Amino acid sequence: MEMPTPDAAILAKKAQIVARLQSVLPNGAVISDAAQTKAYECDALSAYRCPPLCAVLPTDTAEVSAVLKICHDMGVPVVPRGAGTSLAGGALPTADSVILGVARMSDVLETDYDNRIIRVQSGRTNLSVTGAVEEEGFFYAPDPSSQLACAIAGNIAMNSGGAHCLKYGVTTNNLLGVVMVLMDGSVVEVGGAHLDAGGLDFLGLICGSEGQLGVVTEATLKILPKPEGARPVLIGFDSNEVAGACVSDIIKAGVLPVAIEFMDRPCIEATEAFAHAGYPECEALLIVEVEGSDAEIDAQLKVITGIARRHKPVELRESKSEEESAKIWLGRKSAFGAMGQINDYMCLDGTIPVTELPYVLRRIGELSIEYGLGVGNVFHAGDGNMHPLILYDANKPGDLEKCEAFGADVLRLCVEVGGCLTGEHGVGVEKRDLMVDQFNAVDLEAQLRVKDVFDPKWLLNPAKVFPLDASVSRRAGQ
Ligand SMILES: Cc1cc2nc3c(=O)[nH]c(=O)nc-3n(C[C@H](O)[C@H](O)[C@H](O)COP(=O)(O)OP(=O)(O)OC[C@H]3O[C@@H](n4cnc5c(N)ncnc54)[C@H](O)[C@@H]3O)c2cc1C
Repeated sequence: MEMPTPDAAILAKKAQIVARLQSVLPNGAVISDAAQTKAYECDALSAYRCPPLCAVLPTDTAEVSAVLKICHDMGVPVVPRGAGTSLAGGALPTADSVILGVARMSDVLETDYDNRIIRVQSGRTNLSVTGAVEEEGFFYAPDPSSQLACAIAGNIAMNSGGAHCLKYGVTTNNLLGVVMVLMDGSVVEVGGAHLDAGGLDFLGLICGSEGQLGVVTEATLKILPKPEGARPVLIGFDSNEVAGACVSDIIKAGVLPVAIEFMDRPCIEATEAFAHAGYPECEALLIVEVEGSDAEIDAQLKVITGIARRHKPVELRESKSEEESAKIWLGRKSAFGAMGQINDYMCLDGTIPVTELPYVLRRIGELSIEYGLGVGNVFHAGDGNMHPLILYDANKPGDLEKCEAFGADVLRLCVEVGGCLTGEHGVGVEKRDLMVDQFNAVDLEAQLRVKDVFDPKWLLNPAKVFPLDASVSRRAGQ
């Protein structure tokens, strides 16, 4: 994976840049020592690494604005960073860039239960948003498996989803407004504590823009009353394809489970060894959860288990208690970590129409044999949001490149069957050069022009999202 050549003039000005940043930030908020900047050299796509010029940790919008103004004046690229859990290399620095981390911006600014909103600084972690309102019986719906660590800032930038987004939607469906600082330091407010803002849907544009348009410092989020009850059911099958067909039939039937999650044998085994969730012995497992009163849950599960039985499951087990349900979900949410304990892997994130699940799962199995690399599948099946985990050996020469080529073939396959390159993890550096497989030149030019408007000097989050040659020439042309 190629990155642009660092700008020697910026590297030569490091001391000046650091001094100016120190002059507008509290003590200890500028990190420039090589040993300490190493902590920011990668995100969760750890195959790619590069320490930044320096990192800054502001505490509010005014400080973010001061930092961006300086970087804008001095022509220094800036990489916004939440918790660094991106699986697409979204927060990967370049050697000549400043990492702008929002980890110290984690306050709750307002809760309004009557209007069901919470306003937070963007560095607040996803799970702690629910933590702030759960005593009053509310929760924040988007639930990435990384929710203990990832920040609302990153969730907005990647338009993140999670297991329960089948019913509640992803970040964009739960975001009402942001405060954002543009690259020149100016502060804009978009949306607010109401359902829809007048004018163009700028909020829709910002959510999912991967740190290309501005630095989000505050967010107004919807909170929802907790459901009366919820119950997952485990459905085991003797093949991936049959499990995929069952998902498609559940969606077609018009029942709306809150979640339909899929795991294949490698992920079931790794997760069971790690989290002891009580998963059955089978080739493919679905976790289907429904919500509501007991009567509503029973009625929905009757339809779902009826559909599942037509696919001859090897196991069909409803959770009997809250403890059992918690264990089932702990397993699912630990799956990526459990796989990471046994192998290096690259996690893909393509989305396909659910009817294509059986075909795409079969093709992934065939590609795994062709490339000679193992693969595990664990994903949000109800949304058709696939996460093949391609296993490789980081210490074996050539294995990463083989893994990249395998991954590119899978993502092209997603586009071919009518899906797209990313469901929730974003494009980052991982998929930027595949954008030409999804968009034609006219489509891409339109997206580049949007970036031109928000960030005319092309300083924000360089070398991400757009094919490298396009973003490098755009920046050079300024
Ligand atoms: C184990 C594991 C499980 C995961 N499960 C899921 C899942 O279920 N669903 C899902 O959607 N994702 C998942 N992810 C991916 C990741 O957690 C999400 O993409 C998350 O939203 C990233 O948040 P972050 O705060 O870590 O952002 P970072 O990794 O720090 O950054 C992500 C992107 O956001 C940009 N950014 C950060 N802060 C700002 C800001 N203030 N303003 C503008 N742009 C900004 C960065 O430049 C970068 O492009 C998982 C990751 C891991 C490691």
